[in-house]
Amino acid sequence: MIVGIDDTDSRKGMCTTYLCAVLVDELRKYGEVSTPRLVRLNPCIPFKTRGNGAVSFEIRIAKGEEEKVKEVIKVRVSELSELSEEETNPGVVFIDNDTKKENDNKSMLKNFYEDAVREVLTLEDAYVIISNLHFDYFGLKNKRGIIGALAAASFLVLQKSKPDYYDFTYELMAYRRKERWGTTRFIDEASVWKADAATYPLTWDTVDVANKEIVFAPHSPCPVLFGIRGDSVDAIYKTYELIDAEPEERNMLFITNQGTDFHLIRPYKEKLQDYHSYILDGVVSSSPRTIEGGHVVFSISLSEKNRGTIECIAYEPTKGFRDIIRKLQVGDGITVFGALKKETLNLEKIEVMKLNNVAERNPRCDKCGRRMKSAGRQQGYRCKRCGTFKADKDKVIVDRGIEEGLYEVPPVARRHISKPLIRMRMEGADKEIHPSR
Ligand code: ATP
Repeated sequence: MIVGIDDTDSRKGMCTTYLCAVLVDELRKYGEVSTPRLVRLNPCIPFKTRGNGAVSFEIRIAKGEEEKVKEVIKVRVSELSELSEEETNPGVVFIDNDTKKENDNKSMLKNFYEDAVREVLTLEDAYVIISNLHFDYFGLKNKRGIIGALAAASFLVLQKSKPDYYDFTYELMAYRRKERWGTTRFIDEASVWKADAATYPLTWDTVDVANKEIVFAPHSPCPVLFGIRGDSVDAIYKTYELIDAEPEERNMLFITNQGTDFHLIRPYKEKLQDYHSYILDGVVSSSPRTIEGGHVVFSISLSEKNRGTIECIAYEPTKGFRDIIRKLQVGDGITVFGALKKETLNLEKIEVMKLNNVAERNPRCDKCGRRMKSAGRQQGYRCKRCGTFKADKDKVIVDRGIEEGLYEVPPVARRHISKPLIRMRMEGADKEIHPSR
């Protein structure tokens, strides 16, 4: 049986991954439990608590035990969810074991999972699938969590059968002992920097070197002590062993869609909509300018016919990324990656495709070497001293202080689902890559 769970937490406490870890440990007595999955869904969804995460796992149970296991899950979800918070609306979806049915259902589950990461869905959308495929489910309050629960369960079905298509990474989460929840976390910072240095880039987004910050531990009152993200399970556990921190209650390794860029859409003729994340090609059409709050904005003229222009913004928390953006100039060919909100693209990455690094200057006189002066509108250039003449300006290559290639926001500002450029380098991408770390 596959179980998906979502929307059990609030900003004041709990974490759906913790509830999942508790259940995975508890349910082992009923049968073998898989590595749980942690999926990040559409990062623009307004009612998310933090990273729009949902979880799932698979449990092999003897026939006849299903109802008992479902009951344990329902009890734990009811007991551990932050039900007093208005925005907490738990949902659980059960996909019973039936391999044949699982295969028949794949295309519906594929569409649902992909839409949950890229589009804005309704509870109705989830109910249509649940009822067509005769899945069992459970929800509390307005049950909105059923959307994320079905998406997380779908990811598990898809990813286990097609891991090459569904790129994935890992996160090892460590959880705090209950009596410490809400207190300051004890994590020895020096040990974290050392651990990171020992395993980067097989682990990533543990620290932000440029901003001198540790980014793998939350500051909220939730049960998470820290989470180590990466591509290699061995490197993750090596990092874990090197970290000196308060005693934990438990830890759990998740397979995740974090760090994959699965949320990004390359639009094909469809209208661009708010709350969607895109990859768009264009040419810089207005010089970047810094506005109140330190945010940097500019516009690009989109390459695709009839798309017009779009405003792009690098917010203040993206720190040094804004220095790259400030170096862009009108005429630069770029690709932008980010979420559309209020018709403005919130930048996560850019690729500088073609720098406009040719500048026109008045020509130099061949005799004296001085710059010539304009001889009047469209009448070329003349050297006042020597009387020499040239028809056109000189074209010179200027150093723009920026190279072509991919740039990204630093780890302090990175979305969970955004693919760190260092992963592209490890895959051997045939591009200039400028990872931020
Ligand atoms: P945390 O990361 O701490 O677990 P969260 O950021 O995941 O919290 P949730 O509390 O899970 O936030 O709330 C997100 C809600 O949005 C859930 O009810 C989920 O079902 C719903 N949701 C997720 N993706 C979509 C989507 N694409 N369209 C509509 N609703 C969605």
